[in-house]
Amino acid sequence: MAHHGFAVAFCLNHHQGGATRLSQTGTTVQIEQLLPPALRGELLLTTAMTEPAGGSDVSALTTTATPVDGGWTLSGTKAWMTNGLLVGGLIVLARVGDAAGAENIASFYVPFGASESVKRTEVLVPGGRSFRLAEVAFDKHFVPDWCLIAPPGAALKASMTAVNGARVHVAAMSVATLYAALCEAVDYCENRKAFGKPLTGHQGLRWELAEVSVRLEAANALVFRAAEQIQIGENPVGLAAQAKKFAVDTAIWGIDQCVRIVGATGASAAHRLNMHLAEVRMAAYADGTNEMLLDRVGRGLSSAYPKSIS
Ligand SMILES: Cc1cc2nc3c(=O)[nH]c(=O)nc-3n(C[C@H](O)[C@H](O)[C@H](O)COP(=O)(O)OP(=O)(O)OC[C@H]3O[C@@H](n4cnc5c(N)ncnc54)[C@H](O)[C@@H]3O)c2cc1C
Repeated sequence: MAHHGFAVAFCLNHHQGGATRLSQTGTTVQIEQLLPPALRGELLLTTAMTEPAGGSDVSALTTTATPVDGGWTLSGTKAWMTNGLLVGGLIVLARVGDAAGAENIASFYVPFGASESVKRTEVLVPGGRSFRLAEVAFDKHFVPDWCLIAPPGAALKASMTAVNGARVHVAAMSVATLYAALCEAVDYCENRKAFGKPLTGHQGLRWELAEVSVRLEAANALVFRAAEQIQIGENPVGLAAQAKKFAVDTAIWGIDQCVRIVGATGASAAHRLNMHLAEVRMAAYADGTNEMLLDRVGRGLSSAYPKSIS
């Protein structure tokens, strides 16, 4: 899907992540109520961690869930919700009680219904409107008991494990979008002539395209290594972070090269190149910024690269 458009693949992947998690850890009621419409595409799922005051430090979130008869009331604001303009509810991480840290963070499926206690506002992102991003504010919004997904203390760990998988998915999508951009650039350069020969007949330009292909294949190989670990049931925190950082950086750099290499037409709507670049740019924030990813890699250095190799 990301060959055609990074944003649409990213939005569907968010939905997939929510549905997979519900199918693995949801209660019978949640599975019966939510999975069939989610599989039919009638119900879109998005996980809501980020708040306007910050996204990297999830354990500092301030949205609260207060127990009431038959459920909870939710208050607080979630920012940068993928599919936020389309969803009829969110999987929300919220704090139960006053204690700081991760111990009292729980997660809920929060249906919006027709309630006035939910307000959503579009987040305007030039070049990124396909993500349908929204900020969603809850004001004492009622959530029924059956919607509790992970109890206080368990939610953050479960969400971070899911984010780890999502990092590899985003890395794979970035590689796929770069592949599409490179194919488009190569095709154009084979057919456009300058100084009496195709653009690819000029060694300088041909080498620039070749350099993009080298880094693309390196990123792809790293993504495969991380994906294989996930496939066999491991939780490769460092490898997933390495894959996401390298693939996203490589895609942003590589697509930018393609936009430039083909000449002015690369910036125009005659090509998909500028759209690919604007959409892949968004991958640098979602599911962990570069600094957060390097932090993950850095913490695991001594076990991933031990003094003596046995
Ligand atoms: C297209 C898109 C879709 C998204 N979809 C969702 C979604 O569906 N659900 C959701 O919950 N969120 C979503 N997000 C939000 C995303 O997860 C956050 O943007 C991300 O976690 C970073 O948070 P922030 O933007 O608030 O930056 P901040 O946390 O405010 O950080 C700002 C800068 O400071 C750096 N920084 C922070 N802490 C440190 C540190 N300790 N050391 C060094 N540098 C640091 C960061 O790397 C960053 O460069 C989405 C974002 C985008 C762009």
